Amino acid sequence: MSSTDPVIVAGAGPAGSVVALYLAQHNIPVILLEKHESLPIDLRASTFHPPSLEMLHTLGVTERMLAKGLKVDKYQYRDRRTDEVAEFDMALIADETTFPFRLQLEQYEMTHIVRDMLAEYDCAQVLFSHQVVGCKNVKDGVEVTVETPEGIKTLQTPFLVGTDGASSNVRKSAGIGFGGFTYDEKFLVVSTPFPFETVFENLSYVNYVSDPDEWCVILRTDKLWRVLWPTQPGDSDDLLLSEDYIQARLKHLYDKGSAYEIGHRTLYNVHQRVSETYFKERVVLAGDACHINNPLGGMGMNGGLHDAFNLAERLVRIIESGCDYAPEFEQYDRQRRELAVKFVQNHTIENKKLMESTDKDIQDKRQKMLMETAADPVQAKAFLMERAMINCVRESLQVS
Ligand SMILES: Cc1cc2nc3c(=O)[nH]c(=O)nc-3n(C[C@H](O)[C@H](O)[C@H](O)COP(=O)(O)OP(=O)(O)OC[C@H]3O[C@@H](n4cnc5c(N)ncnc54)[C@H](O)[C@@H]3O)c2cc1C
Repeated sequence: MSSTDPVIVAGAGPAGSVVALYLAQHNIPVILLEKHESLPIDLRASTFHPPSLEMLHTLGVTERMLAKGLKVDKYQYRDRRTDEVAEFDMALIADETTFPFRLQLEQYEMTHIVRDMLAEYDCAQVLFSHQVVGCKNVKDGVEVTVETPEGIKTLQTPFLVGTDGASSNVRKSAGIGFGGFTYDEKFLVVSTPFPFETVFENLSYVNYVSDPDEWCVILRTDKLWRVLWPTQPGDSDDLLLSEDYIQARLKHLYDKGSAYEIGHRTLYNVHQRVSETYFKERVVLAGDACHINNPLGGMGMNGGLHDAFNLAERLVRIIESGCDYAPEFEQYDRQRRELAVKFVQNHTIENKKLMESTDKDIQDKRQKMLMETAADPVQAKAFLMERAMINCVRESLQVS
């Protein structure tokens, strides 16, 4: 196998698309394999944090995203019982980042932008309806088994990047464990064109809302408002996705006197899992293939993008200089798995605990803490540096 054979990237989600574009922009031959016949368009992550925007800017992607997305420079923690609002102003981190805001944009908008950019590079190929079903480390490379419209094929590559999502065939085939846990309850996400900003006073575009009965997240994407709720464990998917159930939940949020128009509805299991390693010889993982977490704080996809940049930079160095890949992948594993993932897992678990308590004293204490933090510029900046993932990216790069 030649070291100039294309790198194979399995999965054209946010992480895989970015690895492929980074390699293409450095003239490294790359094949991006996607099991679907086109890029999926579904309701998933919608928040891009400042470090992700900075990284995507180096590839020329951020500018195209800004043209489509919604800049959110303030976000809120609201208590529905007391109507108290803690508002965090991202202008406080303007001296730390070129992009002091969250960009609200559906993740599929970003993958479509990257797919169009990849088409401009002769050294990049994107193959749809190509599902990786197995892989094997062999001498100087990896044999990748792919189900294609023409039947099963075996491809050779110097490196296989597994960005094939939470159920990653690459991870399973490489025999890498995926420990952690799954929450009992599922999360329901519904989008609607109803203008919540006209009925909730001073509503920001991103709002974490506590409530005596049910917490929720209300946020605007580029097109619609989106509401996320936890559901009762044991309730059937049919019930949770039914029109009556969804209308009742929206009515509890705000009774507008008539039925809501619903855009999308999605129900999904929520996990906290990290793979036991991020690589095995020449097979290396990034994104949901090696870490998944609850969506509170919007850290999953962003963490995957941070993996993608860290890894792609290493692949370029390895391929251009011919240096040994093992120390590079070992450091990638230390920087991204041990430190960054610990950060993401801890913050998302903590975010969920903060939201879900129905105990009045705990809710009061939480809201008081958030309001005091938001009111003090020094504390608010420290809070934003953590929540915007700036600290975690900087700290991970310090790990040798
Ligand atoms: C239903 C749902 C809702 C979510 N909502 C939120 C949210 O509100 N906020 C948030 O922050 N995060 C959310 N997430 C998480 C977020 O979407 C992920 O963190 C992010 O998509 C991870 O990007 P990725 O590129 O690692 O993987 P993915 O986006 O999962 O991409 C993997 C890609 O690989 C392809 N693929 C899979 N298997 C193969 C194979 N064997 N061969 C070839 N291709 C393959 C898939 O079709 C897909 O295109 C949600 C996730 C889900 C599942």
